Amino acid sequence: MIYFYVFILCSCVGSFANVLIYRLPKKENFVNGRSYCPNCHHILRMRDMIPIFSWFLLKGKCHWCQHKISIRYPLVEIVSVGIGFLCFMNVGLSVDFFIIFFICELLLVVSVIDFNTMMIPNGLNVSLAILAFISYWFHPEISLIHRLIGMIVISLPMFVMNLIVSHSFGGGDVKLMIAAGFLLGWTKTLVAGLIGIMSASIYALYLLIKKRASRKSHMPFGPFLSLGIMMSLFYGTSMIDIYLQLVNF
Ligand SMILES: [Zn+2]
Repeated sequence: MIYFYVFILCSCVGSFANVLIYRLPKKENFVNGRSYCPNCHHILRMRDMIPIFSWFLLKGKCHWCQHKISIRYPLVEIVSVGIGFLCFMNVGLSVDFFIIFFICELLLVVSVIDFNTMMIPNGLNVSLAILAFISYWFHPEISLIHRLIGMIVISLPMFVMNLIVSHSFGGGDVKLMIAAGFLLGWTKTLVAGLIGIMSASIYALYLLIKKRASRKSHMPFGPFLSLGIMMSLFYGTSMIDIYLQLVNF
């Protein structure tokens, strides 16, 4: 039964994530305003807004104008449910669940918006910073000094890199790593940064080999940093332990 509740909650939050992904880059109000079809602007009915299921019931098309609805909508909702279960299995249904789940959802929104538009809205980084502060309240075991160093351990090298090679990173990426640094503390922030850089390099190599990009083209870094932050949030401590054991031997 509890899994059912987690499913309902997470798919609804995923549905709201879709609203943010669509409206934030257009600077539209995301709190008020009924949901509408982006093509014919018809207000959606209740049954068109059931997370995940509506897309399949509508066969991926608007009920009125038959305009194709992107598969991104159900995908974001399905990924949200996946993230929700991952959080639930890690921390149970506690205050921590809500903090970690909202952080991950925020990172999902950051990833999709950055992927689509090559920019990260400031509001999302500020929201992440607020959640990081709340997390400090519940997790004093990551000390303030640990967190303050975390704020610069990845963001500062990125910022310096930006001065040397302009536009190597976006300002949004730097701010993302400042907020994430306070959330994770410096050791886990290093893990997050490393995973981000490694996964981004693999993706860039893939694009180069497939000739979908040249050496000069830009690619969004936010999705990879977000992946790193999420993985470090869940598995950072174990990864550091394994690494330290390997070094000791
Ligand atoms: Zn329509």
